[in-house]
Amino acid sequence: MANPLFDALFATGRADALALEGQDVAWTYGDLADEAARLHAALMRLGVAPGDRVAVQVEKSPRALALYLACLRAGAVYLPLNPAYTDAELAYFVDDADPSLVVCDPLRERGVRALAPRAAVVSLDAGGGGELADRAAAASSPGPAVDRALEDLAAICYTSGTTGRSKGAMLTQRALLSNAQALKALWRFTADDRLIHALPTYHVHGLFVASHTALLAGASMIFQARFEPEAVLASLADATVLMGVPTFYSRLLAAPGLTREACAGMRLFVSGSAPLLAQTHAAFAARTGHAILERYGMTETGMNASNPYDGARRPGTVGLALPDVDLRIVDPANGDRVAPGEVGVIEVRGPNVCAGYWRNPDKTAEAFRPDGYFVTGDLGRLDADGYLVIVGRDKDLIITGGLNVYPKEVETEIDALEGVEESAVIGLPHADFGEAVTAVVVLKAEGALDADAILARLATRLARFKQPKRVLFAEDLPRNAMGKVEKARLRRDLAGLYG
Ligand code: AMP
Repeated sequence: MANPLFDALFATGRADALALEGQDVAWTYGDLADEAARLHAALMRLGVAPGDRVAVQVEKSPRALALYLACLRAGAVYLPLNPAYTDAELAYFVDDADPSLVVCDPLRERGVRALAPRAAVVSLDAGGGGELADRAAAASSPGPAVDRALEDLAAICYTSGTTGRSKGAMLTQRALLSNAQALKALWRFTADDRLIHALPTYHVHGLFVASHTALLAGASMIFQARFEPEAVLASLADATVLMGVPTFYSRLLAAPGLTREACAGMRLFVSGSAPLLAQTHAAFAARTGHAILERYGMTETGMNASNPYDGARRPGTVGLALPDVDLRIVDPANGDRVAPGEVGVIEVRGPNVCAGYWRNPDKTAEAFRPDGYFVTGDLGRLDADGYLVIVGRDKDLIITGGLNVYPKEVETEIDALEGVEESAVIGLPHADFGEAVTAVVVLKAEGALDADAILARLATRLARFKQPKRVLFAEDLPRNAMGKVEKARLRRDLAGLYG
């Protein structure tokens, strides 16, 4: 018997090889395995049984990663939560997931005890200390890793849920392991790699895509508590790979220290979780000589598509479907495949896809087609070579006067204008049109362009119905921690614009 995901993460790294360093620790694979074992013992003493959910709302730290591995080792289901969630938000997750243990920051402990009366509560602080760490240090051996099957749940990750309540995607050992293996092969990870890990670990990008890929390969990680451009720049000389969200790259570009020489030892820069502007891709290539590799995935599915390691990395695309992922584009109205090159909803099927939503058979049924495809809710098209272009979320589609407008198409035209930093195009309620195409534009320098100049330029590029009815200016666009533009918030804030 075995615990496939846990075993695989420790199968390659030699016990004396560095696994991760950061926050004043440098742990070998042996150290990390010991940490996970001790934390496993502490979890058992706290009453955690295989299959139990362990909700974790803590700051990123090496020990927090070891806690995730300890949950795998214990056969428990790991439930990561953004530290920014308030007690009221946390109450929803605790009620929904019914964890037997909640691990939280010591400062939150009292509130958490009140909202999770059925669960044990234990603290872990931002420095990796606290009651849980003390219990682990004092614990005796927990015995071997708990047996698990590939179908068993390893984690429940709640979607960010911009509409309605967020749902718990049930991620099996198979989903996480198969995806990690695919990415390790695709991105050519080896034990010689050094990954700069500056992503949060409450989200699939940092927790799975980054950590799993590195551990599976026996590589090492430079663990940074949060993304700071200067800290990343300082680590470049000692690293080979960076994984980030697009904001990492635009902020690195703003730092004079980002040079070709600084990146000379790097072999790969990966971007995902939100669209990378083609201009950012081009500017990064011009400055560093590196073509950022963009990939696409989501909480429920892990990674679905990636630009190739060898071969063309095409800006504005998320590349080709992963080898074991079936990907199709369908008409949302009837589920039929669209004609080649047409826009439709992206659906995926493969070992990477979640087992459904936790205790939510209705939402699970809505998300899957009878033939097993998962409806991503993203709109996209495949070009002639099979490269996927994402044009936005289904719910961001604008219907104006009965005609469909894909925000990305309008944004791409606006972003290409000299003087424009970036833009977000949304539909706002309008008495005549139903929705009015509206652009929110961030300029490189204030006053570089005005609304009339932008509209005049768009008039030659876009059909009339796609042209914004209004162009507004903002200093920046609202974004969540993963760099996604919060269009729902823009729509809410600007709802009354057309009366
Ligand atoms: P999350 O579940 O938080 O990982 O968010 C997943 C969503 O992020 C996807 O459904 C896409 O809408 C978006 N996304 C992820 N990667 C990309 C990308 N490379 N380009 C555009 N959108 C992306």
